Amino acid sequence: MTYHAADIKAVILDLDGVIYRGQTPIRGAAKATDWLHRARYHTYYFTNNSTRTRDSYVELLAGFDIDADADHIVTSASLTAEYLAGRECGRRPVVLVVGEDGLVKELRGAGLHVVRRTGKRAVDYVVVGMDRDFTYRKLHAAQQAIRTGAEFIATNRDATYPVEDNVIPGGGSIVAAVATAAEREPVLIGKPSRRAGMLIARHAGVKAREALVVGDRLETDILVGRRAGMWTCMVLTGISGGHEAQALPANRRPHWIVDSIAHLPALLRKLRAGGSSRR
Ligand SMILES: [Mg+2]
Repeated sequence: MTYHAADIKAVILDLDGVIYRGQTPIRGAAKATDWLHRARYHTYYFTNNSTRTRDSYVELLAGFDIDADADHIVTSASLTAEYLAGRECGRRPVVLVVGEDGLVKELRGAGLHVVRRTGKRAVDYVVVGMDRDFTYRKLHAAQQAIRTGAEFIATNRDATYPVEDNVIPGGGSIVAAVATAAEREPVLIGKPSRRAGMLIARHAGVKAREALVVGDRLETDILVGRRAGMWTCMVLTGISGGHEAQALPANRRPHWIVDSIAHLPALLRKLRAGGSSRR
């Protein structure tokens, strides 16, 4: 079957390394996103960061002159909430959270009963994300809940998290600690799971082949797009470099590489003009 890049209707933008880096916006990001809106692409912002709420991203983006509402922002926390709320367990699910406020708020907002420590109540899910107040006590509670039957869910498995000119331990580091203690592997919700790609395509109301993922990380952004059957474009303003992309097998490489998001409108104009591709 041949798919045409000219059919792209939705553009799914990663945040860190695409729109900004640390506190600093990427040059041309506001202009490019404004162009996407005017050119009538369904534009979504998708981050694996689970620590903030979608509303706080609305404010953050507004500070960079980017106009987005919460419905067009997807985080690994909101995706986890959507995933769990959509599952039937016969009662209001009890969720033990190892994570920060953004994750707790998203889960509560979806109607889930969130607890921060185990008591007599049976726990249905243990949800683990980035937690900068992670302790041995939390690790123990998560381990016990999983070993007594709770399902283990990871918002993301990013080992590191980029800050200005360095990296800090990411959500994946915490997930790894829980997985080791519980001797179980989690269900992964965020990028690069195929599930994340399918959920966001459904959210955007498009077929996977009508969506373009734009990101800076090969092992999350590009991989989620590839796994879900989306188009993929890598920017060089974040973590991964062009050489790393070329070293990958063809089906893992981004379809396109641009220097930065500022060059995205030119690429999409060219594709719309009929530069049809197949894969
Ligand atoms: Mg990124």
